[in-house]
Amino acid sequence: MTEMKPENLFGTTAYYDKNSSCEELVQLISCGIQQDEKGIIFLNENGRCIYANKRAFTMFRVIDNLTILYDTFDAWRRSLGVEEGTTSWCEVYKTSNKERLYHVRYKVLNDNGKILGSMYVIQNVSESMDNDLGEQYRLTHDELTRLYNKEGFFAAVRKLLEEAEPDRDYIIVYSNIKDFKLINQLFGLNKGNDILINVADMLSQMVKEEDVYGRINGDQFALCMPKDRFDEKKIIASVKERASRLTSRTYSIHVQLGVYEIYDRRMDVSFMCDRAYMACKTIKRDNVCEVAWYNDDMLINALLEKEILSSFDFAIINKQFGIYLQPQHYSDSRIFGAEALARWLHPENGVIEPEVFISVLERADLIYKLDKYIWELAAAQLAKWKGTKWEKLSISVNVSPKDIYYLDIKKEFDDLVKKYDINPARLNIEITETAVTTDVNKCAKLIMDLRKSGFLVEIDDFGSGYSSLNMLKDINADVLKIDMGFLKKTEDHKRARVILNYTIDMAHELGMGVITEGVETKDQLAFLEEMGCKLFQGYYFDMPMPVKDFEEKYKDGV
Ligand code: C2E
Ligand code: MG
Ligand code: MG
Repeated sequence: MTEMKPENLFGTTAYYDKNSSCEELVQLISCGIQQDEKGIIFLNENGRCIYANKRAFTMFRVIDNLTILYDTFDAWRRSLGVEEGTTSWCEVYKTSNKERLYHVRYKVLNDNGKILGSMYVIQNVSESMDNDLGEQYRLTHDELTRLYNKEGFFAAVRKLLEEAEPDRDYIIVYSNIKDFKLINQLFGLNKGNDILINVADMLSQMVKEEDVYGRINGDQFALCMPKDRFDEKKIIASVKERASRLTSRTYSIHVQLGVYEIYDRRMDVSFMCDRAYMACKTIKRDNVCEVAWYNDDMLINALLEKEILSSFDFAIINKQFGIYLQPQHYSDSRIFGAEALARWLHPENGVIEPEVFISVLERADLIYKLDKYIWELAAAQLAKWKGTKWEKLSISVNVSPKDIYYLDIKKEFDDLVKKYDINPARLNIEITETAVTTDVNKCAKLIMDLRKSGFLVEIDDFGSGYSSLNMLKDINADVLKIDMGFLKKTEDHKRARVILNYTIDMAHELGMGVITEGVETKDQLAFLEEMGCKLFQGYYFDMPMPVKDFEEKYKDGV
């Protein structure tokens, strides 16, 4: 201890009397800490507790044994999910018969960038539990994450904006975890809570102490901060890093961030949050973290979405949904089947395309209702074709990724076969590659069961995701449907064609059929044929059309 120089101990900015000895200094400081009213705990750089003052022992009801204190404190600390950064918050500490409210300040200690360890300063503010302060805390904070709740957040943002520099631009960032409901259902509330605590912690690392953030409801968090400090790249990187720790083979987390720039500080904070949330909801891509900024078109779309959802049940009951059939061809113009594609035949607005309503219904967890309805229409169509010149045709139907969680799909299709007395080999089931990669194990079993029942299973939109090949080793389907769109999306057509060529070969080697969809030109057809593809679907041959038109066009049979 004696050879330690005060400079080393305090860094360059500390003031001390050069005539005092280092020992004297250390003794005084540790005595001060020892007698402090607050509990003080130091952890070394490895996170091991190496010093605690007297008060800390009494706060955690441990009698002068550092190891026991360490275990007790560490268990409590881990439940808070604190890992790095500097924060402060209030926290209820429960003993067997009492609850105490502790105000905790956590600080990483570093000397010129070198991390030495960390420090907790804990103050017992329990007396405020029973008075206005405690009541106020409970009313404005979320019990699980200890962040502001909705009311607390709104009030804190209002105050922040009132006090903020007038010329500085502020934003609201709203975060949503995609399909969080499913995580809860599949993995249980504990896992769900664990994820929420992690998101709360992640937020606290991204912000400065003067920023305001909270949990608005369920899996949704919001944050208000100056626009100039919002570093999109850095935030995405930090979300990705954290999400990778929470991701397993069976599920992955997708965090959507919507940003609303505040132009009118007097606007109701709840409206600002609604707008940031609207931006969140426009995110379609499935990356681990995506950011979308609000614009006024989103408000219009949100109103449209509301309209769709509020009239959906009525539309189903009143049979406003129908199927269009898009023929599927051999390379000569003969057809072997058709894909049934949903259309909303709206009495006032005319025919509405699926891109308007499918994703809305998927987000609202209502798609299974529509899909059941469409599958039934397809089965009924096959039944009508029995004994006609179209009886050899198959009809493919689409399964949304969410159906897999909301429906017993095999039972639904088995029941339709029974009800309409149709050949299951004529009712083909399209499952998208994205659905399969979301839960490979579940889908592998489902596909096996469906094939056992006699259905043909097609992997739709193959090649649109990023783990197509990996998926194929676990999945045994009948047909790969490759979307030509994947050629359009790339700059380097030569490379894409090589991949396409090998994909077709590989599918054939694996004993699978290949249908290329989205074929628009004669040239495309020619090079696909050269690659060995024999089945096609696309505007080059036919657009999707009402069943009547289909029967009319192919009235001479197939
Ligand atoms: P999908 O299952 O991949 O269906 C093929 C889509 O590609 C159809 O669009 C079709 O009209 C379009 N298409 C066909 N040939 C061409 C072409 O040559 N060029 C281009 N650019 N596009 C072509 P549609 O009918 O608008 O459906 C879009 C998507 O909506 C479908 O993609 C499917 O994912 C979804 N969808 C349609 N009906 C249903 C349904 O009943 N249930 C579910 N869950 N999704 C459905
Ligand atoms: Mg399809
Ligand atoms: Mg497709």
